[in-house]
Amino acid sequence: MTGRRTVDVAVVGTGVIGLAAAHALLARGLTVTVLAPRPSSAPGQASAAAGAMLSLFSEVDASQPEERVELEVSQRLRSFARYPAWLDGLAAASGEPLVPLVAGTWVVAADAERDDVAAIARAARSATHPAELHHGAGVDGLRPEATPGTALWLPTEPSLDITRLLGTLGAAVTRHRNAHWYDSPVGSVTPDRTAVRLQCADGTPVACGRVVLAAGAGIPALLGEQRRELGVPPVLAGRGVSMVLGTPLTVEHTVRTPNAAFTCGTHLVPRGDGTVYLGATNRLTLAPKLDGAATLDEIAVLIGDATRVIEHRLAGAELLDTQVGYRPYTLDHLPLVGPTADPRVLLATATYRCGVLLAPLLADLVADEITEPGSLACHPYRADRLMPAPPLSDLLTPATLRGLADHLAGPGARSGGAGQRQLATLLASTLPAVLATRDPIGAAAVRLFAQAPVVEVLPSLLALAERPEARPCPITPSIPPPRSSSPQPVSEATVPAT
Ligand SMILES: Cc1cc2nc3c(=O)[nH]c(=O)nc-3n(C[C@H](O)[C@H](O)[C@H](O)COP(=O)(O)OP(=O)(O)OC[C@H]3O[C@@H](n4cnc5c(N)ncnc54)[C@H](O)[C@@H]3O)c2cc1C
Repeated sequence: MTGRRTVDVAVVGTGVIGLAAAHALLARGLTVTVLAPRPSSAPGQASAAAGAMLSLFSEVDASQPEERVELEVSQRLRSFARYPAWLDGLAAASGEPLVPLVAGTWVVAADAERDDVAAIARAARSATHPAELHHGAGVDGLRPEATPGTALWLPTEPSLDITRLLGTLGAAVTRHRNAHWYDSPVGSVTPDRTAVRLQCADGTPVACGRVVLAAGAGIPALLGEQRRELGVPPVLAGRGVSMVLGTPLTVEHTVRTPNAAFTCGTHLVPRGDGTVYLGATNRLTLAPKLDGAATLDEIAVLIGDATRVIEHRLAGAELLDTQVGYRPYTLDHLPLVGPTADPRVLLATATYRCGVLLAPLLADLVADEITEPGSLACHPYRADRLMPAPPLSDLLTPATLRGLADHLAGPGARSGGAGQRQLATLLASTLPAVLATRDPIGAAAVRLFAQAPVVEVLPSLLALAERPEARPCPITPSIPPPRSSSPQPVSEATVPAT
């Protein structure tokens, strides 16, 4: 098969998206070669590190515009609607037992996150799914250090055991008579006049009619400069660390916090084998180190957050495993599916924090495009959509700045942690510039400092940023300092309480 005859489709990548795509293509009668290491030996794979929450609604937060919520929730629901038949089909094709769905998600939230909870509840109810508000205390008998103000029960939002799902998907593909699995990474992709030619890392050539690139965060390294020729948008990597714990505590449902500090919150997910999954960090990583282990800092953040906001007795749990995975995503944070500039080279990737949920949908979309070219032409995930890079100023919204502050000093922040050091360094370089600006905040800061030129004024200077007229101020050295250096009276309103 390899190099000697041309297969219909090659799929590069054996995460949940690659395997789901291969399964869907086989079901349409095509011959498929899968190229990538087995999921059990694919370091850095996002799928294996995933909590596998099927987050229909709990990934919504108050900062997301309404139309964006509508778009994302409708696609998640579309994928979820496929789940029962998909899991049945996988069990039949693999000979493995059915992967069960574990019903129900609790979203536990501090008072400051009430708006996020309201947005999640709104999204669920608009889709006619139940969303019950409860007091935060006593969720599933859990005892966090800080009792959450609110708890939202989403009975229709389930989770599953990702290890079992990947095993079943792998077996379903392997057992198919039209499938071949070549257990090697791909080094190059070369479309020529007659076929798309792939070169495996061990030198073996594979020729195919179409190739589906489902290599996730590995796509930039695979394509190199070719990415631009093919018109493939940037594929970024969000490094996530998660753990598997052994604990006598009973965790019956997923318990999670809302999105915070650019992560999908802190979450505990029950696994079928009696262990508990704890996730997850999310850090943009420009050069993923696929075989790298979790750092002590990442582990400490996860444990600190989980004991504080979900269950303090977790500190005594056994750490059975730590996992590092790189979530693939792109500039507008929507998946990429369909043809590139060469219609024989297709993408199925960039599922970011919802790839397990979206796998059946993405698999069908890419298989539809291969069997009926053009079927994705109007889909919001189509890979050739316009995606201009936003200017930095567009990204500095109140919500993203709050996310940054949470990230730097958030729930898991420990005295002397990296976030606090970074914040100190940032303030050291920006505070003088703020004092040099002439906008209302800069002017008020100058007046305040003139009245109390002592270190104790620093918290009050920071609190000025919360004044109603606060707005992003240009931090440029070219702005001249205020003309008058003589102190002006500071009204009560100018000196904020700290
Ligand atoms: C910590 C964490 C928690 C998450 N939690 C959830 C969750 O609860 N729910 C949810 O829906 N989603 C979750 N996600 C997101 C989800 O895991 C991803 O969106 C999804 O797994 C991406 O799947 P993928 O197949 O595209 O990529 P991956 O799973 O990363 O698979 C890509 C595969 O491509 C292979 N590859 C790379 N380069 C090459 C090459 N040159 N040749 C051949 N193969 C190559 C890799 O070895 C890898 O196996 C989480 C992710 C992380 C990291």
